[in-house]
Amino acid sequence: MASPPPRIVDSENVSGLINTVMSRHQLRSTEIRKERRAFVVHGRGEFCCNFCPNTWESFYSWIQIDLMDQRIVYRWKMKCKDCYVNPRHIGVEPTFDIEETEKLIEKAIYLYKGERFPRGSAYRGSRIPHPSILCEKCLWGQTQCWLAINR
Ligand SMILES: [Zn+2]
Ligand SMILES: [Zn+2]
Repeated sequence: MASPPPRIVDSENVSGLINTVMSRHQLRSTEIRKERRAFVVHGRGEFCCNFCPNTWESFYSWIQIDLMDQRIVYRWKMKCKDCYVNPRHIGVEPTFDIEETEKLIEKAIYLYKGERFPRGSAYRGSRIPHPSILCEKCLWGQTQCWLAINR
């Protein structure tokens, strides 16, 4: 069964979304302390190989969100399981649908406030980790990124 096309958040629209979610928490970017502005969070990301038609998703897809600049600073890459042996394949960045992006922003806000993310809403989908050799956040096989999650 074909699933509906994912509603991907364009990078140029992320700022607006971050601003909206922060407003919900009565947070303004100008109030964010410079030394506590960027947070690494994970969620269900989608990947699309740039070498073959393969697409996949990982529940452990990582980004860094800057609440002061209201943008995604970094997206950790993953390599395609069929193409990773090709040295020219350096991996691709994850994209997230709107709901998941909102959740990631929420997580960053909770980290900023030093509060726990409300139980039950934080995790959905598969928790099966990916092969660490395919993941930049796993340092391409040197560690396991899902072990770094503080719950
Ligand atoms: Zn591929
Ligand atoms: Zn990983």
